[in-house]
Amino acid sequence: MKIEMVDLKGQYSKIQNEIDFEILECIRSANFINGPSVTEFSKNLSDYLGGIYVIPCANGTDALQIAMMALDLKPGDEVIVPSFTYVATAEVIGLLGLVPVMVDVDPKHFNITCENIEKAISSKTKAIVPVHLFGQCADMESIIEIAKKNGLYVIEDTAQAIGAKYTFADGTTKHAGTIGDIGCTSFFPSKNLGCYGDGGALFTQNPILAEKIKMIANHGQSKKYVHKFIGVNSRLDTIQAAVLNIKLKHLDEYSLARNKAADSYDNLLSNVKNLQIPNRTLKSTHVFHQYTVLINENKRDALKDYLEKKNIPAMIYYPIPLSEQEAYSSLGIIAENLNVTKRLCKSVLSLPMHTELTLDQQVYITDAIKSFLNN
Ligand SMILES: *Cc1c(COP(=O)(O)O)cnc(C)c1O
Repeated sequence: MKIEMVDLKGQYSKIQNEIDFEILECIRSANFINGPSVTEFSKNLSDYLGGIYVIPCANGTDALQIAMMALDLKPGDEVIVPSFTYVATAEVIGLLGLVPVMVDVDPKHFNITCENIEKAISSKTKAIVPVHLFGQCADMESIIEIAKKNGLYVIEDTAQAIGAKYTFADGTTKHAGTIGDIGCTSFFPSKNLGCYGDGGALFTQNPILAEKIKMIANHGQSKKYVHKFIGVNSRLDTIQAAVLNIKLKHLDEYSLARNKAADSYDNLLSNVKNLQIPNRTLKSTHVFHQYTVLINENKRDALKDYLEKKNIPAMIYYPIPLSEQEAYSSLGIIAENLNVTKRLCKSVLSLPMHTELTLDQQVYITDAIKSFLNN
């Protein structure tokens, strides 16, 4: 049985005619930069997210950098980030001369916790970057409350959670990425809404900020050859926007397919010794960018090797805490001990998760896991 960690070929085969046609159209029109599909995609994604400004850019890492530039964060300013995340979140903070303050996460849902944020706030803190890890929102209502109380910006890293919805105490719901001052996402091919190369976007409700973000992403240009800010060159290619316009129509169906696969894993893996299935919070839907189980620390690496021998891919997101990375160890201020992160790095294992996963494949995967862990 051939099992992919992410089956992009299988997904493509179902939308191939439309994709091939639209990509060829871009090439025939030679409208490679800022072609009509870029504007169209911004509008479509804005509608999908409930009417927010959407500014496309070249990738998710750029989105985070542009967000921090647009909020005028200055060298020495402290930005609170979870210690258990992809490196991009902290990278742009360091790149801009800001100080990443890494705080520990919750052992159940792996997201940043409000207790840890509050302990990490100092007179230099300017922003919080919650990451909606693996497809489930951090506790945004409480994070926004803390931010308001302390005069801080909130930049959501929603690279893994596009399509997820957060429910507030009063019952209203909002899309991941549309709750803080700015939301940042990535369209990297394996993300839940992925294009066929690099891509990203920023979201904001604030029209002035939206205008500034647009300028910064385009060399700080207010009109042609007039530069109001120092900016960057960060664009979404027309071809990528054309792909995204097609895939956006399927995003909810893709999230459903991931949820169905997650439910099957939950059933197949309930009551397995030395294995804990992922926790789901009540306040957020889960779009399962990753299906990540916890394995007894002494068995995790051996299980991964065992699965590999059976041609079952599995990945460790993430093997090393940010605070222990050479590039960040001297730069970051670590708010307190990061025991949960350290434990997670030794015990997490992400199983194949994508829109094309079949129950047969999942039975094969979970049978292998069970036969290893029950021995
Ligand atoms: C993928 C990812 C990014 C970076 O996105 P790129 O498009 O690869 O630059 C940032 N943060 C998180 C949490 C991610 O998963």
